[in-house]
Amino acid sequence: MFEALSSRLNGVFDKLRRRGALSEADVNEALREVRIALLEADVALPVARDLINKVRERAVGAEVIRSVSPAQQVIKIVNDALVEALGGGEGIEAPGLDLNAPAPVPILMVGLQGSGKTTTSGKIALRLRTREKKKVLLASLDVQRPAAQLQLQTLANQTGVTSLPIIPGQTPLEIAARAMDTARRELYDVVILDTAGRLSIDDALMDEVAAVKAATRPHQTLLVVDAMTGQDAVNTARNFQDRVGVNGIVMTRVDGDARGGAALSMRAVTGAPIRLLGAGEKLDALEDFHPSRIAGRILG
Ligand code: GDP
Repeated sequence: MFEALSSRLNGVFDKLRRRGALSEADVNEALREVRIALLEADVALPVARDLINKVRERAVGAEVIRSVSPAQQVIKIVNDALVEALGGGEGIEAPGLDLNAPAPVPILMVGLQGSGKTTTSGKIALRLRTREKKKVLLASLDVQRPAAQLQLQTLANQTGVTSLPIIPGQTPLEIAARAMDTARRELYDVVILDTAGRLSIDDALMDEVAAVKAATRPHQTLLVVDAMTGQDAVNTARNFQDRVGVNGIVMTRVDGDARGGAALSMRAVTGAPIRLLGAGEKLDALEDFHPSRIAGRILG
């Protein structure tokens, strides 16, 4: 992720470093190139524009240009702006999953079909069971695809967690209610509810997901998006945010996404933090999202 952006920015900053003293025009020229690099990485236009304006405001100040190593100062300012765009900042290392609620904590997984929702549900279940010793119940509310509930059951078996027994003919709301009842009765810590996706946003999907959300009042509503779809992922996220409301994003397939623009746009567009990254098909390929480490990786 971010390979191309990183090498472009390195080129821009190397040029800046070689200059020594910087004029306002030098900084503006460098920022123009940073803006192009961001757009080429598929960062949403308003996000790139805001980021550059912020950097310009902070960098064009006389102190920076007259400082001992002005290029270094500019790089630091770009770094800080990237960290902010990625949802970081003072005191925010990695948001991770928020499970700070009375058990059983409901986590609702939402997103388009094929985004990696079911795989990510399994990955989260495995992580909670092994690292945090949580008792996790997995339930598929996907009655659209006949194989979906079986797929989640298989994943549950692979990860050593329990999945809600399948009762054919139940509606998503009935399955959700049964999952929450089971979890309360059998003292589960966390219930992961995997909803049905569609190939694209449609009203029926949004209504169904919104109804499940209203009925289960999840502590975390995690939107799963495929990083490789770039701007489409950002548009999907905006839609889900407007119509369902999410409080966390998981970006999958970052292992195949060289550009990374969606990650840089997500926070500004949705206001929700990226909490986790899916970096492969294997069930242990789940990473925390560290804004400052990622910015460091971008600036290499
Ligand atoms: P769903 O329809 O949203 O539930 O999507 P699935 O969980 O069934 O995933 C669709 C495909 O994407 C499967 O083949 C997964 O193995 C694959 N997949 C999911 N997450 C990742 C990821 O982080 N990286 C890669 N490379 N593949 C993934």
